[in-house]
Amino acid sequence: MKVHQLQVGNMQNFTYILEDEKTGEAVLVDPSWDLDAVEQLITRNNLKIKYIVNTHHHFDHTIGNEAMTNTTGAKIIQHEASTLKHDIIVKDGDKIRFGESEVVVFHTPGHSKDSICLVGDGKILTGDTLFVGNCGRVDLPDGLGHEKETNFVMQPRTEEAFVELLGG
Ligand SMILES: [Zn+2]
Repeated sequence: MKVHQLQVGNMQNFTYILEDEKTGEAVLVDPSWDLDAVEQLITRNNLKIKYIVNTHHHFDHTIGNEAMTNTTGAKIIQHEASTLKHDIIVKDGDKIRFGESEVVVFHTPGHSKDSICLVGDGKILTGDTLFVGNCGRVDLPDGLGHEKETNFVMQPRTEEAFVELLGG
């Protein structure tokens, strides 16, 4: 599985495309801005976008959904706790398959109640759950204390155990 990363907009957002290299089937993760660049990447690599996956419902991860659905025909996948428009829901442990590749969904509420991480082929996409070198904000409207007690990601453990937990 090949991961294409595009930095988009002015808020340090990333859009990702996960490519199954054997078949060209791909998953578009968190389309927001700079959709011309996203479409160029799709065309240049001759990709067929099967799904659009949103790591959570915040607008800076979803605002490009409709435009990209129109151009690719892809189905939108979100966690079952999302209140936005979608075609397919996923929950913790579900697998998203494209070509001969797959990613596993981890439900990681805290930054928002519908936050998910995607894990596959030794890679992890965290949306806003984890920022590089840090954790996602939990001071937003539906984040918080409950998660510190119950969220498996928040439980004290060594870095090794954490990576193992996430399939690394
Ligand atoms: Zn967010």
